[in-house]
Amino acid sequence: MARGKLIVLTGPSGVGKGTLLRSLLRRHPELYLSISVTTRAPRPGEVHGQNYYFVTRSEFEQMVMSHQLLEWAEFAGNYYGTPRQAVEEQIRQGNWVVLEIELQGARQIFQSLPDTLGIFILPPSMSELEQRLRGRAQDSEEAILRRLERAKTEVSAADEFDICVINDDLDRALDRIEAALFAPTEAATVAV
Ligand code: 5GP
Repeated sequence: MARGKLIVLTGPSGVGKGTLLRSLLRRHPELYLSISVTTRAPRPGEVHGQNYYFVTRSEFEQMVMSHQLLEWAEFAGNYYGTPRQAVEEQIRQGNWVVLEIELQGARQIFQSLPDTLGIFILPPSMSELEQRLRGRAQDSEEAILRRLERAKTEVSAADEFDICVINDDLDRALDRIEAALFAPTEAATVAV
């Protein structure tokens, strides 16, 4: 049976990962998107089991202690983690699994599963990223500055990934991601 593939998509807050990912999944419904567990409160419109599994801190800690998470990290005061069982099951079945996670989690995955394909999404420039974060008008000035600081750290780690894609134009960025995913190489197959 064909072995599955694990794909990690990372990039700073505001870079447009969510939009890219939604378009990628529309083009390739055969890709399996892992649903993360988080202690953050749901945003308006978010659905438990669809966007995230929303859990309490003690439920999350229990999952960490019983090794139910493939990776986990704290981001902006909340915990986020990837449920292990669903991902391993999908890969065993030969499916391609996408994790949309931040840098610390990506590093844990690269350590434990080095054959993972790591894709880093870059903004066209830091000033463009700042404009996008401000344009969302979702966050306080303090939160924007914190996210920008974090974005600088994440961007400086971009070379830890197999490919970097500049999100200057949605279709072009998608084409580049597709080219990396469907390139005829064995390098990105993974066994769990
Ligand atoms: P948000 O709160 O905006 O949905 O997500 C905040 C950050 O957490 C984003 O960078 C997102 O990629 C990351 N994230 C979401 N799920 C996970 C996860 O399971 N593990 C890790 N390490 N990061 C995650």
